[in-house]
Amino acid sequence: MANPDLIYEIIILGSGPAGLTAAIYAGRSRCCPLLIEGGQPGGQLTTTTAVDNFPGFPQGVDGPELMDNMRRQAERFSTEFITGEVSKVDLKERPFRLWIDETLYRCMSLIIATGASARLLGLDNEKELYGRGVSVCATCDGFFYRDKDVVVVGGGDTAMEEAVFLTRIARSVTVVHRRDSLRATPVLADRALANKQITFRWDSEVTEILSNQSGVVGIKVTQRNTGTVEDISCHGVFIAIGHQPNTHLFEDQLEMDTEGYLTTRHGAETSIPGVFAAGDVQDPQFRQAITAAGTGCMAAIQAERYLDDLPYDPSLTCQKGICRPKPR
Ligand code: NAP
Repeated sequence: MANPDLIYEIIILGSGPAGLTAAIYAGRSRCCPLLIEGGQPGGQLTTTTAVDNFPGFPQGVDGPELMDNMRRQAERFSTEFITGEVSKVDLKERPFRLWIDETLYRCMSLIIATGASARLLGLDNEKELYGRGVSVCATCDGFFYRDKDVVVVGGGDTAMEEAVFLTRIARSVTVVHRRDSLRATPVLADRALANKQITFRWDSEVTEILSNQSGVVGIKVTQRNTGTVEDISCHGVFIAIGHQPNTHLFEDQLEMDTEGYLTTRHGAETSIPGVFAAGDVQDPQFRQAITAAGTGCMAAIQAERYLDDLPYDPSLTCQKGICRPKPR
């Protein structure tokens, strides 16, 4: 059980590949990290089926299985796990302070690996219809659309993967993309373009989601060049238009770029010494499981070096023996 009376050497926020890799490294260097997992333990990979590009798995591996393996590896090296939504952080002074509901947790170094969440279109009833026809994850919800008509919004890798996946389940799949060419990498784009079951609506925007009491019944699509508006009937709308970083907790405390990604330098350092960031929360560019794991490793190594350089203060560290024994 996590003990709020203690001052942890390292607290890790997030349990995707970045957070879990940081935990494996921190645990192996005897830092006994506390890892706080949020509402989606395992992160975005738990919503994926085959992960074909994580080295070490020649036949590919299921996302949930990969994350479960990482978690068990982190447990083997003494990571303590708790589940909860951190509602507030104070990084102004050390020890850093975090709250889950009313419970305060303190740490000497913090690794932020809170990832990114699916972006929505910003339409009026989109959130209300979430789970009743609107989805951001075909591998999670595709099952419910057997022999139904579905729409996928977006032109990136995620949209193409979801569209191809859905052709195995749904009666028809329509991709609505706002431009006339795909952003997706050629291998995924070509696979989707060659799939006869997918219809593409180019230069088109979803401007309304139509619904009745039972959920989604269609969408209104506006052709951007002509302004023509057309109704497409469907039961499912899969929104795959990218992600936004989960950084609202750190606004006004840590440096971020214009899109809200945490700014890192020299590896995983943030604008506050002792606070490190890893994975999608600081990566608008690559956003891969392997790059997330790599930055998690960097964050843990840098956190450990940071702790080593702190002046020894028995009142702050090693309380009740949970942290690694030193004097330094
Ligand atoms: P992404 O690459 O950012 O693509 C987002 C797509 O949504 C783009 O086509 C974009 O249009 C469109 N879009 C953005 N905002 C929109 C809006 N408000 N309305 C309508 N359309 C909008 O996101 P992603 O596909 O989720 O991929 C994210 C990262 O994960 C990428 O690095 C990708 O390579 C990686 N990924 C890899 C794999 C794989 O390797 N198997 C699978 C999934 C994802 P524009 O093109 O016009 O900007």
